[in-house]
Amino acid sequence: MTFSEFNFVAELQEGLDAMGFEKPTPIQEQAIPLILAGKDLIATAQTGTGKTAAFILPVLNQISQSQKKGVKVLIIAPTRELAIQIDQQIQGLAYFLGISSIPIYGGGDGNTWEQQRKALEMGAEIVVATPGRLIALLAGGKVKFDALENLILDEADRMLDMGFSDDILTIIQHLPKKRQTLLFSATMPPKIRKFSQQILHEPEQISI
Ligand code: AMP
Repeated sequence: MTFSEFNFVAELQEGLDAMGFEKPTPIQEQAIPLILAGKDLIATAQTGTGKTAAFILPVLNQISQSQKKGVKVLIIAPTRELAIQIDQQIQGLAYFLGISSIPIYGGGDGNTWEQQRKALEMGAEIVVATPGRLIALLAGGKVKFDALENLILDEADRMLDMGFSDDILTIIQHLPKKRQTLLFSATMPPKIRKFSQQILHEPEQISI
């Protein structure tokens, strides 16, 4: 199959062309139609399968048609490196859509606390965050997620192994209940299934 079968908005198809993505990978073929249909999703997929674009593409298509102002998509990832990688893929694919994204993470290099807070206040539409730093920003009371439509948890197994489970549940308390939630994980042990029952609503399941 080709990407044109998804009928993405023209600016998103332009982004795909510019990135040199010609045809969807298996995880993209399976996940994109379910996400476009508004379903919650649990996906088992490893790095290197194209899992990042599998959630970025349909979500970008959805928010390109949304009139709401504010953060519409929150992506939570275990590490700064992964948050940066996801943000870079968004910047590439969203280039012609004019949708803005910001990575939020702790540690010394990169953008500072103050820059991250300002970008959030100015209304980046997509936030890609590590759990610890996001908790700190939420505690400051400056970040609002009233307009949020999508929550995505990437590498969920790694986040639970790193002890982020309570942080993630705390973050979710600040999000609207009516939202689409997607959980991606390289492995699917019982603790991930149990965790996902707390935060997803009648999810579809796929595995690559
Ligand atoms: P990921 O599994 O998300 O870490 O993606 C692995 C790599 O594959 C990334 O460098 C992507 O830019 C690239 N990629 C993702 N989807 C496609 C596609 N449909 N065609 C070509 N490259 C892709």
